[in-house]
Amino acid sequence: MGDVSKLFAMMGCRGANISGMPRGGKPSLTSEDISGALGMGNLDEGAYLIGRAKWLDDQQAGLKLYEALKKLFMAKHKVNETRATGLARLALFDVLWFKTCPTCKGGGDHFNDEKLLVTCERCGGVGSVNLTERKQSQISGVPWSTWQRNKSFAYMVDDVRIQLLNLEHIAGKHIRDYLN
Ligand SMILES: [Zn+2]
Repeated sequence: MGDVSKLFAMMGCRGANISGMPRGGKPSLTSEDISGALGMGNLDEGAYLIGRAKWLDDQQAGLKLYEALKKLFMAKHKVNETRATGLARLALFDVLWFKTCPTCKGGGDHFNDEKLLVTCERCGGVGSVNLTERKQSQISGVPWSTWQRNKSFAYMVDDVRIQLLNLEHIAGKHIRDYLN
C-alpha cells in the first residue's frame, strides 16, 4: 500500500475528485452517483478499478491496478520486477493524474501581468499538460540516461497507457449510461 499511498499523495489531496469526469446530460454528479453506477451491470474489472481510483480516490482500487500493471509489464514486456514496479507506478500516475495545466487551470487562457487575457503559453491553450520525459524517468525510477538511451521504456508505458485510457473511457461511458 505504501507506494500507492505515496502516489496518491503526489497527486495532491484531491478529495472525491469528479471534476475530471466526462459529463453526460446530468449537470452535477456526486461521488455516490459514480460509486453506484460503477457497481451496476457487468463492468469490466479493470474499468471498474480505474473509475474508482480516478474519480473516487479509492486507494484499494489503485493498489489492485498497480499489482495488475506490474504483472502486465513483466508478462508482456519481459522486464524484471524492479523495472515493472517503477513502470507500473508511472502508468498508474499517468492515468490517474488530472493533467490540468497549473498555469491556466485548464481554461487554456489566463490574464498576464498587463491584465490582458492571453493564450496560455505553458500548455499552448490546450488546458492540459503531459508528463515530461524527465518526469517520467523520475517517477518510474529508470535513470534519465537509461531512459534517453533506451526508448523501449517509453514505448512500453505508451502501450499500457493506451489500454488504460481505453478502460477509463469504458468506465466513463458506463457511468453516463447508468445515470442518464
Ligand atoms: Zn495552460
